[in-house]
Amino acid sequence: MTTTALITGANKGIGLETARQLAARGMTVMLRARDVSRGTGADRELQAEGHAARLIHLDVTDGKLIAAAAAFVDAEYGHLDVLVNNAGIATMGGAPSATSLDGFRTILETNVLGVSAVTNAMLPLLRRAPGARIVNVSSEVGSVTLVCDHANPMWALPASLSYPASKAAVNMVTAMYAKELAGTGILVNAANPGYCATDLNGRSGFRSASQGAEVSVTLATLPEGGPSGTLWGYAWGGDPDKPYAELPW
Ligand code: NAP
Repeated sequence: MTTTALITGANKGIGLETARQLAARGMTVMLRARDVSRGTGADRELQAEGHAARLIHLDVTDGKLIAAAAAFVDAEYGHLDVLVNNAGIATMGGAPSATSLDGFRTILETNVLGVSAVTNAMLPLLRRAPGARIVNVSSEVGSVTLVCDHANPMWALPASLSYPASKAAVNMVTAMYAKELAGTGILVNAANPGYCATDLNGRSGFRSASQGAEVSVTLATLPEGGPSGTLWGYAWGGDPDKPYAELPW
């Protein structure tokens, strides 16, 4: 049976690197891109490297495209082994007191509702896989514990609302799907890639997109009986010899 992985927002950045690394492990990867011209470049890039990669047009805020993507996976493969909810947006929203509600709403629509919408559409297919994995790409800025920890490097960052609140919500979304799916063999975890140089942040991150993708790939390939309902990934300010750890919510 073909092992299948579907990655949202995979035309660039951490999503593209996640697709590349999962494909290198023998999976057939479906890159979901809302910008088809960019996505086409990405799937050709992976195909040229010898990987099984296919492109699916998808905007995570568009219910019709999500349903069409699920129908495509069903018709082609009949099941889905890995779902990586990677698509995300960020804006420098300014201080909480200066946050635009329209901007806040847009971020929640993509980063939070998009995760639930895609997961629900794919769940029947994930349930048909022998042991599916769902990875929701979150962030340490969504950890209420870490952002309030005066000893953590994030304390020095300016207060902002939309993006951190969206990732805190992704953490809860992750916990609740993990709770609902406990005992099914499907493991659901949130990934913290760390601060990676991508378009999301004007390429200011100190980690590479490829390093960020390693986190999603680890969670997407957890062994049977592995953890579910965790936030795991790069631990900024932690032990440099152990860069990856489970993070507090
Ligand atoms: P990126 O290079 O900007 O990639 C974001 C991807 O999401 C793009 O493919 C983008 O597509 C896609 N996307 C945005 N809105 C979408 C929508 N409505 N429907 C479908 N796709 C959509 O940024 P990245 O850093 O790789 O981000 C990937 C994930 O990692 C995000 O969830 C982000 O929050 C998370 N993350 C990143 C960092 C970091 O330091 N970079 C740290 C922690 C977490 P378009 O090209 O069409 O815009």
